[in-house]
Amino acid sequence: MADAPYDPDNIFAKILRGEIPCHRVYEDDHTLAFMDVMPQGEGHTLVIPKAPSRGLLDADPESLGVLMARVQKVARAVKAAFQAEGLTLFQFNEPAGGQTVFHLHVHIIPRREGVPLKRHEGGMADNAVLAEHAARIRAALEGQG
Ligand code: AMP
Repeated sequence: MADAPYDPDNIFAKILRGEIPCHRVYEDDHTLAFMDVMPQGEGHTLVIPKAPSRGLLDADPESLGVLMARVQKVARAVKAAFQAEGLTLFQFNEPAGGQTVFHLHVHIIPRREGVPLKRHEGGMADNAVLAEHAARIRAALEGQG
């Protein structure tokens, strides 16, 4: 079955156009990273390409290399900022694959031994907490040089 076309009114497209706010941690010409508002763990961050694609399958293959390089950069900062022991990355495709926002994105979640992930799309986090977490990751990115 063919996937639906890209919807330019999805919530991440609105974030990219500045129509709704986000807790930004990193941005360049190709990529934006920001805090997930319903974190599955402290420091849960999303990295998205600026180019429109619904998921992995319709993305321009060239752009995926850039995206993953930025995922690595942000993941290093997230791990350092939260003194994590490990990281879990997710990337969901289509509702059957667990996707709820239809603009390609990669989840980065810091992990510690024995601390389970919270439910996907569980509760909204406090804005002030997300702002502080974003600041922590930005500082770690600055520390990367
Ligand atoms: P999924 O499409 O299943 O990979 O998940 C989409 C993710 O986006 C979920 O983890 C949501 O908590 C998150 N999310 C939804 N709306 C926003 C928003 N406005 N800002 C940041 N994260 C969001």
